[in-house]
Amino acid sequence: MPVLKLTNSLGRHKQVFEPLNPQNVGIYVCGPTVYNYAHIGNARPAVVFDVLRRVLLHLYPKVTFVANITDVDDKIMDAARETGQPIDAITKKFTDIYNADMAALGVMPPTHQPRATDTIPEMIDLIEKLVARGHAYEAEGNVLFHVPSFEGYGKLSGRNRDEQIAGARVDVAPYKKDPADFVLWKPSTPEQPGWDSPWGRGRPGWHIECSAMSEKYLGPDFDIHGGGLDLTFPHHENEIAQSMCAHGNTGFARVWLHNGFVTVEGEKMSKSIGNVLLVNDMLKDAPGEAIRFALLSSHYRQPFDWTKRGIDDAVKTLTRFYEVIGASDSAGGVPDPGFIEAMCDDLNTPKAIAEMHAMAKAGRGADLKASGALLGFLQQDPSQWQAGLSKAGGIDAAVVEQLIAERNAARASKNWAESDRIRDLLTGMGVTIKDTPQGTEWRV
Ligand SMILES: [Zn+2]
Repeated sequence: MPVLKLTNSLGRHKQVFEPLNPQNVGIYVCGPTVYNYAHIGNARPAVVFDVLRRVLLHLYPKVTFVANITDVDDKIMDAARETGQPIDAITKKFTDIYNADMAALGVMPPTHQPRATDTIPEMIDLIEKLVARGHAYEAEGNVLFHVPSFEGYGKLSGRNRDEQIAGARVDVAPYKKDPADFVLWKPSTPEQPGWDSPWGRGRPGWHIECSAMSEKYLGPDFDIHGGGLDLTFPHHENEIAQSMCAHGNTGFARVWLHNGFVTVEGEKMSKSIGNVLLVNDMLKDAPGEAIRFALLSSHYRQPFDWTKRGIDDAVKTLTRFYEVIGASDSAGGVPDPGFIEAMCDDLNTPKAIAEMHAMAKAGRGADLKASGALLGFLQQDPSQWQAGLSKAGGIDAAVVEQLIAERNAARASKNWAESDRIRDLLTGMGVTIKDTPQGTEWRV
């Protein structure tokens, strides 16, 4: 079996990946806060960690992939106030749009996609453990994590004490015992969303969500935690502090992976420049498969610069690859060993794509298609790709099949709301389904 090497942000070195349980590898990736459309910077981790999931599935029998939905947050409350819409309506709408956009980019639905608001009892439980162990304290209805109580704080981000305080300065509060302390729980006013807790009616801080949700689905000790580089501090540093301290310094994620930043035509994305690229808009101009290809043309740890030329090149390359697949018998291929080696070398996608060019040159359509499956492209019928180019927005059959399987599972357990939600999601992707005695049929 090929050896997978990954660059662990914790310690910053490339190491051989050894799962805790080779029968079931666990990954947690921080998901979106659902109050507006996802931009290309939000799409990058979703695509990168989907590729990691596909590589792991090539090496191991099972992968449990957890990605959360943050549906309680001050930014969501602001959006509700500005638009006059109820919070639930906003979070449902943008969760569905996010999932449909990511499906159009060929991202497989997570094994579990917990919502923060469904995990409140677990968060309260975790906070109570931290208070009981002397790592957190209550002050004026807030519960704060006491940073000096955790010796390992700063290890992931490499930030020293002064930099930690500078980073936490955004919320100075007189009741903080230490300027670096951060919020686990905060009080809610009657009009704000809130839940009853031992500290009164309130709502969780953002960081505690991920500690509670990863533990709920993967246990306190699991294999891989991923996210964008911008989450390293304070979010991931705080997750480590919470989870390690709640369980007496054992376990939590073994390997931390971070994808690099995204710029647009050499510039940082910002509302003031007006260059924020929304995936939903991009899908109107280019097939999702080409957007995915462009995102994977850079190594995930490197910064990624989005350019018009990059997407044009992606369309051209995919068209050529599909021509090679269409011109050969595309069944029974296997990924090229050089391709697998590149993918197992810390997901070296630029090198893997170079190997695909070599396969295309040699006219090895079947192997090209089999290799493409690990990157999440080249899985359509070549004629479908051509048809899709005119209307944009490619559909990955594997994504559709998985959604249909989930819908059937929901129907079997009589969870009609969930089965309707998945049907709506498919409709949003342009997929029509039909239930027959032989199973569910679908078409674009
Ligand atoms: Zn998180």
